[in-house]
Amino acid sequence: MSAEKTIPATLIPGDGIGPEIMDAVTEILDAVGAPFAWDKQLAGMAAVDATGNPLPPQTIDSIRRTGLALKSPLTTPVGGGFKSINVTLRQEFGLYANLRPTRTFVPGGRFDKIDLVLVRENLEGYYAAMESYIPVGDDPHGIATGAGYNSRAECNRIVRFAFEYAVKHGRKKVTLVHKANILKLLTGLFLEEGRKVAKEYEGRVECNERIVDACAMQLVIDPWQYDVIVTTNLFGDILSDLTAGLVGGLGMAPGANIGEKAAVFEAVHGSAPDIAGKDLANPLALLLAANMMLEHVGRDDLSTRIESGIRSVITKPELLTRDLGGKSGTREFTAALKQHLV
Ligand code: NAD
Repeated sequence: MSAEKTIPATLIPGDGIGPEIMDAVTEILDAVGAPFAWDKQLAGMAAVDATGNPLPPQTIDSIRRTGLALKSPLTTPVGGGFKSINVTLRQEFGLYANLRPTRTFVPGGRFDKIDLVLVRENLEGYYAAMESYIPVGDDPHGIATGAGYNSRAECNRIVRFAFEYAVKHGRKKVTLVHKANILKLLTGLFLEEGRKVAKEYEGRVECNERIVDACAMQLVIDPWQYDVIVTTNLFGDILSDLTAGLVGGLGMAPGANIGEKAAVFEAVHGSAPDIAGKDLANPLALLLAANMMLEHVGRDDLSTRIESGIRSVITKPELLTRDLGGKSGTREFTAALKQHLV
């Protein structure tokens, strides 16, 4: 189907399985007539090989221009003093909200009918990584210290983002997840601002609170009680992998990093070097991320079509990739999914 490509967007094919799953995803997007005019750019090892820089200025300029990017996983260069590309992108574009929807696609499992969203603060907390060593006796690294910070403004902004998301997507409840019983200042400030914001939404969106460790246990025992969870950076990082595990692991987990001026959509998994180039990768996490991008630009009509295709193909185990118990390769699976698009 040919469709007008009216929305400029940066496309980063990435490393390892990145190019294979990106090919699959753009094929499906083309099949439904997605409106993205891609500006292909390098990052990760592909960019190191081509330019010596894992995040070249052209890639940053492109995202600045388009305000929108679909990014395949990147291999983090080991050594060489490179800063994490994902952290650099978050800081460069102020991508303060990390959005991780978790939904069951393969029906009938232990965690059937899961539908929750985790909102993680992306810029502050312990990810500030203010670390240092204190010598003890002869050992210069006898004690390791790490500090974090949360600002009132950012706590307010991330909780507000979660409530606005709930309103926009017809969700009923936001849970503030914290550890204010122990980290009374660091996460106490988050809870204080969270309660303040929650008051503004009274009568529209319900709000409750959970201590992070209790939340982790309840996510395993009774995840259905959760609707939207909002939390600080490190807790969100850990809990979002836990929630991905509820619905079949990282192969099904999309994520979005959203800021005032740009949004970057990605699969949560890495570049899977062990299966790269073997036509084994499951493209669904990146496809679900592309679906979030379609919704971000108001094309829910197209994301709904893709989602129905996924829901229909997923009921036929023999058509799925191996990580989902099937026998298909990436290309065969993509072709099957295309056939199931209505
Ligand atoms: P990984 O997610 O790449 O792989 C973990 C396991 O899951 C592997 O066995 C892999 O084969 C499997 N797997 C992952 N995605 C899959 C898919 N789509 N289909 C089928 N199987 C899949 O994690 P890792 O091995 O720890 O990391 C590899 C590289 O990726 C590292 O350089 C890491 O830094 C990087 N990484 C990048 C991102 C990102 O760019 N967002 C995220 C995580 C890790």
